[in-house]
Amino acid sequence: MTHVLTVNAGSSSLKYALYEKADAPAVVAQGKVGRIGGAAVLTPEGAPQRSLPDGTDHAGALSAVLDTLKASHPGARIDVVGHRVVHGGPDYAAPMVLTDEVLARLDQFAPFAPLHQPHNLAGVRAAKAAFPDALQVACFDTAFHRGHPFVNDTFALPRSYYDRGVRRYGFHGLSYDYIAGELRHRYPELKRVAVAHLGNGASMCALLDDTSVASTMGFSALDGLPMGTRCGQLDPGVVLYLMDQEGMSAEEITDLLYKESGLKGMSGISNDMRELEASDDPHATEALDYFTFRIRRELGAMAAVLGGLDGLVFCGGIGENSAHIRGRVCDGMGWLGISVDEAANQANAGVISDGPTKVLVIPTNEEIVIARAAVQLAGA
Ligand code: AMP
Repeated sequence: MTHVLTVNAGSSSLKYALYEKADAPAVVAQGKVGRIGGAAVLTPEGAPQRSLPDGTDHAGALSAVLDTLKASHPGARIDVVGHRVVHGGPDYAAPMVLTDEVLARLDQFAPFAPLHQPHNLAGVRAAKAAFPDALQVACFDTAFHRGHPFVNDTFALPRSYYDRGVRRYGFHGLSYDYIAGELRHRYPELKRVAVAHLGNGASMCALLDDTSVASTMGFSALDGLPMGTRCGQLDPGVVLYLMDQEGMSAEEITDLLYKESGLKGMSGISNDMRELEASDDPHATEALDYFTFRIRRELGAMAAVLGGLDGLVFCGGIGENSAHIRGRVCDGMGWLGISVDEAANQANAGVISDGPTKVLVIPTNEEIVIARAAVQLAGA
């Protein structure tokens, strides 16, 4: 039996899933290697954790994954590997076969996403070495948004910057692609939909007829909503002030905005929503107030972009599990046709508001989007 492996390689983690290769791929195994570069640990779903040698890199992590898969699924033959790659730059609006030429082009986009792209590509290189005969496919977080109208694709900078790739790309595209597919099949009557992907990373996307027309994220994965540790929307004057008046280097500012801000920075407690919801510290309360305020503000903006709203979808770890945040986002949104059934909300039901504007909770699945694209490009 032939199989597809999906690889989602981050800075210190590598998530994987093994699918049977078919028109509708079915997952047969999945898991994660955490703390790559340090005391790495392999956690296959439904099986015991295993410590890997200290300092294990992406190649070592992948090789440990393969050992595990060989033991659990000895008959599996992996002939396609699908990779999550954060940035496809201005060039790639669809999944691509990872030829040497495409890989070289993706290296050039690393400065657009310095904290993610090099690790994604390290995963690609490790998989190419491990499976020299397999077809390698890249699926981009930016691709789903590449059709944005110019006004949602640009900043008001001199035109030459746009031409050099300084644009609003948008991210979480694999998640939105999955949600758009679910909407197409299950709720085809919903034409104007705002999707809130609320996890440790968070963004929103405006879908018109299942096509992305706006995203809260821009050039980098920093813009828009506040996140676990990222700041979200920020006046660029703040960055200039930090450089000029506080003498911070680019590296220090990068660390501040990506790793020390958002829910973690505001609360001073944690980036984890569950901890903040359980806390009675006033700074935790303020962090949640800010988080929900910004989502509500963007929801209004998306309704304006779409000319009204037929649906709102929550997904991601917070969107799928936090009745508290969903309730607060939707509170007082009767003017948008939203009226949440609190019992359905508490139960994480699929439909939590069934008025003129449906509010849905749809568990997202980025891996299956990669597996389907990989199967399609392999022509299976
Ligand atoms: P993700 O990045 O999609 O895995 O989402 C991670 C975020 O989801 C973290 O902030 C978690 O605290 C949050 N989360 C997961 N389960 C729950 C829950 N039951 N209630 C509130 N937040 C949750």
